[in-house]
Amino acid sequence: MTIIPHTIGGMKIDASHRHADVYDPATGAVVKRVPLASADEVRATVDAASAAFPAWAETTPLNRARVMFKFKELLERHAGDLAAIITAEHGKVLSDARGEVTRGLEVVEFACGIPHLLKGEHSMNVGREVDSWTEYAPLGVVVGITPFNFPAMVPLWMFPVAIACGNTFVLKPSERDPSASIFMADLLKQAGLPDGVFNVVHGDKVAVDALLDEPRVQAISFVGSTPIAEYIYARGSANGKRVQALGGAKNHMVVLPDADLDGAVSALLGAGYGSAGERCMAISVAVCVGDATADALVAKLAPKVAALKIGPGCSDPEMGPLVTAAHRDKVRGYVDAGVAEGAELVVDGRGHRVDGHDAGFFLGGCLFDRVTPTMRIYREEIFGPVLCVVRVPDFETALKLVNDHEYGNGTAIFTRDGGAAREFAHRVQAGMVGVNVPIPVPMAFHSFGGWKRSIFGPLHVHGPDGVRFYTRLKTITARWPEDARHAEFVMPTMK
Ligand code: NAD
Repeated sequence: MTIIPHTIGGMKIDASHRHADVYDPATGAVVKRVPLASADEVRATVDAASAAFPAWAETTPLNRARVMFKFKELLERHAGDLAAIITAEHGKVLSDARGEVTRGLEVVEFACGIPHLLKGEHSMNVGREVDSWTEYAPLGVVVGITPFNFPAMVPLWMFPVAIACGNTFVLKPSERDPSASIFMADLLKQAGLPDGVFNVVHGDKVAVDALLDEPRVQAISFVGSTPIAEYIYARGSANGKRVQALGGAKNHMVVLPDADLDGAVSALLGAGYGSAGERCMAISVAVCVGDATADALVAKLAPKVAALKIGPGCSDPEMGPLVTAAHRDKVRGYVDAGVAEGAELVVDGRGHRVDGHDAGFFLGGCLFDRVTPTMRIYREEIFGPVLCVVRVPDFETALKLVNDHEYGNGTAIFTRDGGAAREFAHRVQAGMVGVNVPIPVPMAFHSFGGWKRSIFGPLHVHGPDGVRFYTRLKTITARWPEDARHAEFVMPTMK
C-alpha cells in the first residue's frame, strides 16, 4: 500500500506509528495510507521551518517573487496532473478539479506581485529633518490547517502569500485527501524554494493540538467546519498566536418574482449540486419570494436534479461521489431527518445507484420544498447534494431569514430590479454577496471570508487581508544628522 509521506525540511519522511486510510470515493477502495504525526514529529517539522526562516526572511521580495513565478509556471504545466490527484481522493469531477487548480493559481499570480505589495509607506519630514516609514515584516513560522473539500485551492489561498511575505510555512492538510499537498511541495522544490520554507505534516487532532501549543508558531490559518474553527481560534489565541479561522456555511440564494427564472434554475443546479454540494460557497437554501415563484422554480428545477449525470469523477460527469462513506451516510441522515420533520422531498436521491460502482460513496441529488427555519435541514450545514426551498411572502422576510441564520459566508440575490439588489447587498449580513452570481467567490486580489459564525478572527484570506495577516508592521522614525544633545522628558512632538 502506498504511503503518502510528510515533507519536512525538503525530505520525504514516514516514521509515524499511526496511519489512516485514504479512499477512492468512486470505488470505495482504500488506495493509499497517510501517516498521522505525533507531537514529536510536529516539533521536528517546526524545527525545520524555524531553521529556514532567517535566510528566507532576508531573501529579497524580488527573489521570493521569482520563485513564485517559477512555481506558477510549474503549476500551469502540471495542472492536469494535480486535478487528477484531487479527483482520485476527493471524488469531484475532473473539470471541477481543474477549476479548483485555476482558482488556486490565481493566488500564486497575486503573490508574484509581492515586491509591490510590501512597499510600505513613507513620510518625509514628519518633523524638521525627521523621516518616518512603515515596513511589513514577516512573522516567522506560520501554519495552515485545511479541509478536505479543496485539497489544492485552500492551501493555495494561504501559502503563496505567506511565503512571498518572507515566512516559512507548515501545512497540515486534510487527512482524507492529502496527496495534492505533497505534489505541490514537490513543485515548490523544483521552483527553487529552499528546503524547510514549505513543509507538510499529515495528521489529526494530535498534530493540530501540537501546532496550536507550539510556542514558535506565530500564526495559524484554518479553514474547516465551525466547531473546529472556533476551537482553533480559542486555543491558538489563548496561546498568543495570530489566528484566522474560517468555518462552515449555509448560503442562501434569494429569488425575487422578477428574476430570470431559467437563469436562476441553472445557477441553483450548478451552485447546489456542483462538487456534490461539498463547497463552503455552495447554495444550500433557495429562498423564493412568493408561492408563484417557488412553484415555477421547483417545477423547472426538479426534473433537472433528478436527471443529474452522476458517476466517477474521472469520467467527468456533472456530479461525483461524496468524500467518504461516513460523510455520505451523514448527508443521507439529514435527508431522513428532513422527511421526518415534514419537509416535502421533491427529488429523493437516496437510492441512487451508479452502475459498476456499488461500493462508491454516491448519493443522488435531493430537493426539498416547503422547508421551514426551525427544521434541522435548514439550521445545520449538510455539505452534500441537498437543496432546501424556503417560501417567503416578501423581500423583507427573505432578507431577515438570511440575516437571522448563524452562518454568513456567501449569499446571492437573483432579480432584474437594480434597486432591490442594491438594498440586499447593502443590508445583508454576509461576507460575500452575489447579484445574479450564485457563487460570488472573490478573485485572488480581493480577500475571501464570511461573517458571523463562518469566521473567527478579523482578517479574511488572500488578497490585501492575506498580506496584512502574514506580516507585522514596523514604523521607523529617523533623524539625520543625529541630534540628541539634550534629554526630553515630555511626550515627543514634532516641530
Ligand atoms: P473539518 O473541520 O472536519 O477539518 C478541517 C481540518 O481540521 C482538517 O485538517 C482536520 O484534520 C482538522 N480537524 C478535524 N477535527 C479536528 C479536531 N477535533 N481537532 C483538531 N483538528 C481537527 O472540516 P472538513 O470536513 O475537512 O471540511 C468541510 C468543512 O469546511 C465544511 O464545514 C465547510 O463549510 C468548511 N469550509 C469552509 C470554507 C470557508 O472558506 N469558510 C472553505 C472550505 C471548507
